[in-house]
Amino acid sequence: MKRKKIVAGNWKMNTTKEEAEKLAASIVQSSQAFQGVEKIVFPPFPFLQAVKTIVNNTANFFVGAQNCNHHDKGAYTGEVSAAMLKSVGCDYVLIGHSERRQYFTEDNIQLLSKTEQALTNNLNVIFCFGEQLNERKNNQHFETVKKQLHGVLNFFPKNKTEQLVLAYEPVWAIGTGETATPAQAQEMHAFIRKTVAEIFSQEITEQISILYGGSCNAQNAPELFSCPDVDGGLIGGASLNADEFCKIIGSFG
Ligand code: PEP
Repeated sequence: MKRKKIVAGNWKMNTTKEEAEKLAASIVQSSQAFQGVEKIVFPPFPFLQAVKTIVNNTANFFVGAQNCNHHDKGAYTGEVSAAMLKSVGCDYVLIGHSERRQYFTEDNIQLLSKTEQALTNNLNVIFCFGEQLNERKNNQHFETVKKQLHGVLNFFPKNKTEQLVLAYEPVWAIGTGETATPAQAQEMHAFIRKTVAEIFSQEITEQISILYGGSCNAQNAPELFSCPDVDGGLIGGASLNADEFCKIIGSFG
């Protein structure tokens, strides 16, 4: 099986309902030529259903949530469960994004429970991880990434890896305008693939898409996506502009 090429847009805490609908409609319209690429958008919770309605009949186009709670249901005021997300048409959920780890102190125990909730409710998981700037400067980036991968994937059911996508997002590159060079991205993605082979198997690691995230844009995407172990991107800022996002979708050689 060939690995899926994926471009995913994380809209974070941006857009109103009207803006979200307009953005989704423009992306649907302008990305039609790129049938071979799986497109996923991650709008804020309140707009999931509205965006789902817009992308619904578009081939290879999915909607995901930026987070889910680690409990199945109950007295957790203000929280959103994986079952709720599935019921409004989500197919994906982001787990482990660095902003969740940093601002909401999500640790491996929570990430594991979230993953379990997602899988139980038939959601695909995009598991995000990546090193801090000081870790790269101290040459600890491989060690950090290995720990982050083992922390969750050691407990990820081997028979559900079809529901797993990985996103390497060096924290120093997120929202900073500083991107990993293609050489840095390829070096790390090859390391991730090797680590995943140790956790699961060579056959499984060859099938898992590994996305790059961190100030990816229409200029740098073609070179990044041409790296053999980079299977696409998780895009933040640039996903809020339909033209830019669709150029990124069209960046595979
Ligand atoms: C992200 O937050 O997942 C991300 C990659 O953001 P940006 O593209 O803005 O760096």
